[in-house]
Amino acid sequence: MATAKSKTDATEALKQLTYLASALKAPRIAEAAARLADHARDAGWTHEEYLAAVLDREVAARNASGAQLRIRAAGFASRKTIEEFDWDAHPAARQQIAALASGGFLTEARNVVLLGPPGTGKTHLATGLGIAAAHHGHRVLFATAVDWVTRLSEAHRAGRLSHELARLRRYGLIIVDEVGYLPFEQDAANLFFQLVSSRYEHASLILTSNLPFSGWGGVFGDQAVAAAMIDRIVHHADVLTLKGASYRLRNRGIDTLPSIRTQDPAD
Ligand code: ADP
Ligand code: MG
Repeated sequence: MATAKSKTDATEALKQLTYLASALKAPRIAEAAARLADHARDAGWTHEEYLAAVLDREVAARNASGAQLRIRAAGFASRKTIEEFDWDAHPAARQQIAALASGGFLTEARNVVLLGPPGTGKTHLATGLGIAAAHHGHRVLFATAVDWVTRLSEAHRAGRLSHELARLRRYGLIIVDEVGYLPFEQDAANLFFQLVSSRYEHASLILTSNLPFSGWGGVFGDQAVAAAMIDRIVHHADVLTLKGASYRLRNRGIDTLPSIRTQDPAD
């Protein structure tokens, strides 16, 4: 009799939980409460342990769907993760990237600069760090340097540059891929400088480039602008230089590209 009564009580309680969870717009609470109830009784969980386990399911699900939204909104060219990276070619970078992937650099508004010849995994690692950042709850935007300059030029022409820079500061991480593939006009270099200044000590940047810093003056068409920009970027930054042959060309019997000799950042 007692069991029949407690069963009805439990059913009533779960019905009420379904209503309460939907009022809270947290449907997974009702689902987890029902699923974990028997297990909690069998395992002798305290009320507190049971409540924590139920709420944990809701929070984990919310974080995961938030991360997926942030990853979709980031505009990555591809969805490469740190876990997919093969460290054989870059054993020295492994620990440093793992530390960066834990997200501490974002809360300190530090930057990351990935340098190296084409095909050495710069875009892959920048993307992987961006995906990790999204999992840590940060908003992320990814674009090439050329795309960033286009966006900033449009905002500038519309008289909205400072508004746009303020909006971008709400993103914990901005990734600028491929600095140096194309040279900038003077105006573009100034816009890019403003992006870097606006984020300095406020929010993080990840930049990738196939050129060493000494080559950036040529890209920005102005040594002084480039020097001032590099100064702000590297003041609080991890700079990683990837060396070696292109991963794209591995096992193809081609181990040198012309650019590897002329643009090695170690020069
Ligand atoms: P980069 O930006 O330096 O030119 P990418 O990151 O675009 O190079 O890498 C080129 C391709 O090779 C991508 O598909 C990338 O995922 C892959 N790749 C490069 N390095 C690695 C690596 N160490 N492990 C796994 N994939 C890699
Ligand atoms: Mg790249």
